[in-house]
Amino acid sequence: MNPPLEPTTPTAKRSPALDPYALRGDFPALHQEVNGHPLAYLDNAATTQKPEAVLEALLRYYREDNANVHRGIHELSRRATEAYEGSRARIAEWIGAEGPEEVVWTRGTTEAINLVAASWGGSNLSEGDEILLTEMEHHSNIVPWQLIAERTGARLRYVELDEEGRLRLDQLPELLTERTKLMAVSHVSNALGTINPVPEIARLVHERGALLLVDGAQGAAHHPVDVKALGCDFYAFSGHKLMGPTGIGALWGREELLDAMPPYQGGGEMIRVVKPDMSTWAALPHKFEAGTPNIAGAVAMRVAVDYLDRIGPEAVLEHEQSLVGYALERLREIPGIRLYGPPDPEERSGVVSFSLQDAHPHDVATILDTEGVAIRAGHHCAQLVMRRYQVSATTRASFYLYNTREEVDRLMDGLDAVQSIFGSTGTQ
Ligand code: PMP
Repeated sequence: MNPPLEPTTPTAKRSPALDPYALRGDFPALHQEVNGHPLAYLDNAATTQKPEAVLEALLRYYREDNANVHRGIHELSRRATEAYEGSRARIAEWIGAEGPEEVVWTRGTTEAINLVAASWGGSNLSEGDEILLTEMEHHSNIVPWQLIAERTGARLRYVELDEEGRLRLDQLPELLTERTKLMAVSHVSNALGTINPVPEIARLVHERGALLLVDGAQGAAHHPVDVKALGCDFYAFSGHKLMGPTGIGALWGREELLDAMPPYQGGGEMIRVVKPDMSTWAALPHKFEAGTPNIAGAVAMRVAVDYLDRIGPEAVLEHEQSLVGYALERLREIPGIRLYGPPDPEERSGVVSFSLQDAHPHDVATILDTEGVAIRAGHHCAQLVMRRYQVSATTRASFYLYNTREEVDRLMDGLDAVQSIFGSTGTQ
């Protein structure tokens, strides 16, 4: 096993405010026509577009360095291992981890949460224990807990949402009991855009002696992340939400917790010694990385993180909030529109969710697509949010660093077209 490499820091300086028009030049997929119109890509909460540097990193890895990691004693394998472990070290530094051993590569947020639920949950939960979730969670932060609760006899409880898409934190003192072993909460809601006050939640959870897992799928891409300042015990995130490739993400966990957890999957890479009837495990983080990993994905995710870091997550959030502010202002002009999530853009990242009375969200999305505007309609893998607001679906536009006010105007023009077809006058 190679020793972890020193993390590198990007050389370019951070700019205080970002220029989306300049950044767009870095994203080849944005420069295309869809249905005869220039693409306005407003589905970034689903996945983000990739800058040229990330695409190049993927190709360069396969062209020049492709080999398996930690195994071959040859030049290419050395290079692949260095790049793979160097990316880990860079990600660890970026999120403020103690070291690279606290960062486990996964397929994404979903696998990271499943890992904790199966491994930590499988060895720490028993009949009557409680896991505290919230109604805001993506299915990725509900279903893994349901699976482990069924196996162990643990019980799931939920913090509710208020009318404006915030968590009812006033319920925490009652819902956190001496039986609560872990709370799992999203950093930022993919369905509403709400940014949750993680440090405050962490304090209350820890006062009860429980652990806090944060689903950072929508956090790390849009928000500065420092796992120490957040005060959580696990943080899960995905590369593709922050301009990296699909199929790569990471779990950060406090070292003593990861160390005490049993492996999640068995196979090559994660063992120390294999005997006919038992095996021993590799040191962290390799204990959790069975099989050949997504090496190219990890290498390219570092390039995405470097790109994001050069711009500065603070500037990204500020830009998104200004687009959300503008979008909300314009959306409020539509008679009878129903808006979801906090009214103040400062409480959210780049997501606006809404519904019109007479047009189903899927029809809205279809009409917008004919105008070249890509948005999302549906339950956004957050059926408990839909249930809370008694709708089956919403329409969601989600912004990122390369989106512009003109694209918000394109969204509004598209909604005008929807209204002229459906004549929306009330709320759904
Ligand atoms: N949690 C949230 C809040 C998300 O938005 C998503 C992706 N939509 C996930 C979890 C799952 O992420 P992935 O599909 O990358 O594993």
